[in-house]
Amino acid sequence: MKPFVLLPASGEAEAAASVAADPGARFIAGGTTLVDLMKLQVETPGTLVDITRLGLGEIEDIEGGGVRIGATVRNSDLANDPRVRERWPVLSEALLAGASPQLRNMATVGGNLLQRARCNYFRDVTAACNKRSPGTGCDALEGHHRGHAVLGGSDACFATSPGDMPVALVALEATVETLRADGSTRSIPIGDLYVPYGDDPAREHVLAHGELVTGVVLAPSAWAARSTYAKARDRASYEFALASAAVALELDGGVIRTARVALGGVGTKPWRSTEAEAVLVGDEATDAVFEAAARAALADARPRRDNGFKVELAQRTIIRALRTLRERAVEEAA
Ligand SMILES: Cc1cc2nc3c(=O)[nH]c(=O)nc-3n(C[C@H](O)[C@H](O)[C@H](O)COP(=O)(O)OP(=O)(O)OC[C@H]3O[C@@H](n4cnc5c(N)ncnc54)[C@H](O)[C@@H]3O)c2cc1C
Repeated sequence: MKPFVLLPASGEAEAAASVAADPGARFIAGGTTLVDLMKLQVETPGTLVDITRLGLGEIEDIEGGGVRIGATVRNSDLANDPRVRERWPVLSEALLAGASPQLRNMATVGGNLLQRARCNYFRDVTAACNKRSPGTGCDALEGHHRGHAVLGGSDACFATSPGDMPVALVALEATVETLRADGSTRSIPIGDLYVPYGDDPAREHVLAHGELVTGVVLAPSAWAARSTYAKARDRASYEFALASAAVALELDGGVIRTARVALGGVGTKPWRSTEAEAVLVGDEATDAVFEAAARAALADARPRRDNGFKVELAQRTIIRALRTLRERAVEEAA
């Protein structure tokens, strides 16, 4: 690993200014992704600004039954928070489906939102990768790409957006709060945070260098309270999604009034499917409608040589999640 300087930041503004002033500086939170990438020499920051002592480790109640989740809240604390489990269960379930207990005890909200691609060619400095070294090509095109995206890719990059939590937050229409080095703040709808890898491989999100994620805001709703996360992966723990679905439904009798569908493991960003939502809303919560919604969600899929199985896998994962919500509604009504 290349030597680096570790700077403990004592204030949010100081942290943002320190990173913004130095192109070779990075924020470090739990370090569970960044340190790996430094060992692999994929990332070689000269300075790490430690943001774990900024007082961003709380989940606060806000007006109207919502919460503001500080950027350094640990994934395990967020998953087990009683408010989150009751009002936004998809978030708790997505977090618990990710990584391992040890990793979740270290990983933070901000770091999870901004974790980098898990493509093997991105993580191998001897391979061609437009994300790591723009203009060098993409070895995944002819290489091992079973885990790669079927939605949103290009010949420049079709790595899969890796996180589970961001998929849940996209379904929940969360807002990401940031602080820039000039002291200004932004509230970014999470749907606008990510740049699909295929569009501009070197750019994964819209944040400026040195822009600090300070928190995530969630609003309550009837549909958010009826939400769930389903994840298909090669082993039951410690593994990224091959396909996942974050879904939420507001049901009126058997009729779907509101629907949210977001996909993980198949897209080059956490993938909201308004197409699936449009099929669901106004119709009965039947298997036939769920199947039609799942087909709509993957209608634009462009599989390559080895990842075609993801289309059906993602459809089945969406249907499984929707059935879970229907079963819970029936149990509650009984
Ligand atoms: C073996 C393994 C299995 C895994 N499995 C899964 C899985 O199944 N699902 C899943 O979703 N994830 C998985 N992960 C990834 C894990 O969730 C992430 O490593 C973790 O969430 C990153 O959080 P962190 O706080 O450790 O981030 P760090 O490593 O500290 O930082 C990650 C990036 O975010 C930036 N950053 C951090 N905080 C901020 C902030 N507040 N503002 C701006 N930038 C910031 C850093 O500069 C860095 O670029 C796995 C990781 C490993 C090692």
